[in-house]
Amino acid sequence: MTEPLLRVKDLVKHFSVKGGLFAREVDRVHAVDGVSFEVGAGETLGLVGESGCGKSTTGRCILRLIEPTSGEVWFEGKDVPALDRSALRALCRDMQIIFQDPYASLNPRMTVGAIIGEALTIHNLAKNQREFEDRIVQLLETVGLNADHMRRYPHEFSGGQRQRIGIARALAVSPKLIVCDEPVSALDVSIQAQVINLLEDLQQQFNLTYVFIAHDLSVVEHISTRVAVMYLGRIVEIASARDLYTRPLHPYTEALLSAVPIPDPSVKRQRIMLQGDVPSPLRPPSGCHFHTRCPIRQLPLCSTEVPKLKAGPDGHQVACHLRG
Ligand code: SF4
Repeated sequence: MTEPLLRVKDLVKHFSVKGGLFAREVDRVHAVDGVSFEVGAGETLGLVGESGCGKSTTGRCILRLIEPTSGEVWFEGKDVPALDRSALRALCRDMQIIFQDPYASLNPRMTVGAIIGEALTIHNLAKNQREFEDRIVQLLETVGLNADHMRRYPHEFSGGQRQRIGIARALAVSPKLIVCDEPVSALDVSIQAQVINLLEDLQQQFNLTYVFIAHDLSVVEHISTRVAVMYLGRIVEIASARDLYTRPLHPYTEALLSAVPIPDPSVKRQRIMLQGDVPSPLRPPSGCHFHTRCPIRQLPLCSTEVPKLKAGPDGHQVACHLRG
């Protein structure tokens, strides 16, 4: 088997909650709690779960936009958490991010040309002004915008166009891997499909690898090669997109899938309503984090023992004492 482009092993990220007179640590948010997965070159791994499950934190730890508490991140055989500043800067050319909010992620005081060109300047990727501008025009056209847009400001664009600008900025350095952090969540449904289609076209054109983060399984269905489902900081299931959608094993995945609309009106799917809210990541439940809401839990087993992510012969992995 070839070495994966990205390998994440036992990744943990805890955030301190400070309080009191001396700002001591009074609590800890368990945002990411031992996450492991691999992504091959040219693949898209969908990372899905409700808000606060740790998926965006995982994406940011991969890029070291935030420092992981512990665990391993390997990119093309390089130990990412161990890289010094200059090596990390060089790695930024290979790994980029597209943010969720196309309104907040673009500096309103910079022109579109300056936003896209910033990375070209940082990494010295244009020999002169002419080459700099030609590259920006090329990037704008690649994402479906045009040369005139270069001198305009972000507020002059719609949400979908702004996300295209964010994509052009990520593409400027010709990356190998892009973490797409809920890139369509803030967009109208009609625009979401256009942006996803664009990302798929770019993947083909530039042989890109994506970690595609979303809170909705329907969003990642078509773009993902494999899908990982997260709940309270842990991955509970990973499988090929086809397997996960047709044969989910984890009760949480089943509940998420039951909420996905089916375009064929003759096919009926029973909605599974989970009880209660997602527990606080400050004090996640013992054993299986999902046991407080699981419709098939078995106590005390599920509340005392952490289920390991185990793989079946087809590579479909699930973390449940009763399934798999
Ligand atoms: Fe439900 Fe137990 Fe499986 Fe967790 S380990 S998903 S609580 S059955």
